[in-house]
Amino acid sequence: MIVETFAVGALGCNCSIIVDPATKSAIVVDPGGNFGDIQARLTRLGAKVQAIVHTHTHIDHVGATAPLQSWTGANAIIHEDDRFLYDMLPIQAALVGTNLPDKCDLDGGLKDDLVLHAGGLQMHVLHTPGHTPGSCCFVAKLGAEQIAFAGDTLFRRSVGRTDLWGGDSDLLIQSIKHKLYSLEEGIEVVTGHGPSTTIGEERRLNPFVRI
Ligand SMILES: [Zn+2]
Ligand SMILES: [Zn+2]
Repeated sequence: MIVETFAVGALGCNCSIIVDPATKSAIVVDPGGNFGDIQARLTRLGAKVQAIVHTHTHIDHVGATAPLQSWTGANAIIHEDDRFLYDMLPIQAALVGTNLPDKCDLDGGLKDDLVLHAGGLQMHVLHTPGHTPGSCCFVAKLGAEQIAFAGDTLFRRSVGRTDLWGGDSDLLIQSIKHKLYSLEEGIEVVTGHGPSTTIGEERRLNPFVRI
């Protein structure tokens, strides 16, 4: 499995490109900005994007979704419980002080336990509300390889804020304890901003949510 993670946009959202090397089928997670950079990386990788998925619909995670969707023709998917946030992108843009991105038609089909397929890649969806009502984490699998994408639910030694629209700190903690900490200890976790971590490290060392 090829995984490229890189910061995009003014807030440094981690965008990831996941590719099945055998088929070049790919999934993009959180195209939050810098469409030109995402496009150049996909072209270099020869990636055929099958789906664009979002850990949640804060503006820093969906800022380049519209151009990526129109360039690739891939389905762009969110959890339906976050659609209200996409509908209020102008308010989000004003709060962050960024330009209003183009909008596209989003599929609200992300659901807990859903598995998306792209070539040999499997993308398991975990609904993890708390940071936003429709926040999701993903576990990508190819053969024995696994890697998780936590969005703004879990950070290295920290957790996502819950003071924005629809945030809920009790739900966030339940999501981390019951959905993320039940994954295998050794799984690498790509977070929404900043460095990656592992499930085991956070179970032992996260000051906000420990087992
Ligand atoms: Zn967020
Ligand atoms: Zn974010």
